[in-house]
Amino acid sequence: MYRLIVILILLGIFYWVVKRAFFPPKNRVAGPREDGEEMIQDPVCGCYIPKSQAFTLSDQGKKVYFCSHLCSQKYQTSKTLPKD
Ligand SMILES: [Zn+2]
Repeated sequence: MYRLIVILILLGIFYWVVKRAFFPPKNRVAGPREDGEEMIQDPVCGCYIPKSQAFTLSDQGKKVYFCSHLCSQKYQTSKTLPKD
């Protein structure tokens, strides 16, 4: 019987997470969020990510933030590739 309760709780959490992911309570804009978490823009794909979840890279002493490892790799590749 208690397994059913656990499943119901998990479903509730899952539903909440999905709801939050697809229907954010407020417009996603740059700047401080309700919880004070700073949002930063990924220079590669242009999306916004919470600073604590971002992938960081040091570029000439400057910290650059990315949404994913892939974006940081793309950034590095574009830096090292010679420009025409
Ligand atoms: Zn990105």
